[in-house]
Amino acid sequence: MKHIPRKRFGQNFLKDSAVLYAIIDAIAPRETDCMLEIGPGLGAMTEKLLPHLERLDVIELDRDLAAYLKKRFPPDKLIVHQADALDFDVNTICTQHDRKIRIVGNLPYNISTPLLFHLMTFADQVADQHFMLQREVVERMVAEPGSKAFGRLSVMLQWRYDMEMLFIVPPTAFDPAPKVDSAIVRMIPRENPESVPLDALEKIVTQAFSQRRKIVRNNLAPFFTEAELIELGIDPAKRPEALSVEQFILLARHLPPLPTDDVSQPLP
Ligand code: SAM
Repeated sequence: MKHIPRKRFGQNFLKDSAVLYAIIDAIAPRETDCMLEIGPGLGAMTEKLLPHLERLDVIELDRDLAAYLKKRFPPDKLIVHQADALDFDVNTICTQHDRKIRIVGNLPYNISTPLLFHLMTFADQVADQHFMLQREVVERMVAEPGSKAFGRLSVMLQWRYDMEMLFIVPPTAFDPAPKVDSAIVRMIPRENPESVPLDALEKIVTQAFSQRRKIVRNNLAPFFTEAELIELGIDPAKRPEALSVEQFILLARHLPPLPTDDVSQPLP
């Protein structure tokens, strides 16, 4: 099919078959897997996955591409959802199986962060995720405390997933070629993630990294005094990137209730 790539949908199609086979190897699909591909595009990965699977669900936002995929592949093997992955309810697929879902995709880079956060809400039902993303984003996801890349994305995702960068993919593997390197990441939901109020973790992490060059005594001053940080075993003179994921979780658990802008009570 002749298709002019749409920039607004982040369309960079994989054309390098060696890279495609390396991705399929990393995913290691099995016949009975319950698998969901996000952003199948023209079907480069889809066609390599399908022979290994009983069936495959895909979500594609672009109407033309969704229609093309429906024509190209047998409807009992490929279930095409013409939908936005950002608000897709992952629990609606494979409802007849009790197997956990495997999610894969060469993701549209313009929505990668919100998509990762949306998918995190289904982590309990997910076996693993294999994604192609911008290399710089993958580096932030897997970054260790103390490194420059360690930040909000690292803490929020490492709390919920074990993650590994598998390999780097150069721009020449795509058509059109993106400006930056890409990378494949494997994400496996942790069996027993530490229990923590997610909104509190999000608040602490956002505040802590709002000014990376400041030390946490200053950054976290709206929430904790210096004495409180010390009591929690946190060195107030450290920069936010020096704190571990566990320390952020500890802070989130102790986050004092924040004043709300509740104006539902009549004023005296
Ligand atoms: N998987 C194909 C490949 O590797 O050649 C295409 C990958 S391309 C980087 C991203 C794909 O995601 C495009 O087909 C695009 O139309 C689709 N897409 C973009 N935004 C989407 C969204 N919100 N929900 C579902 N699919 C989306």
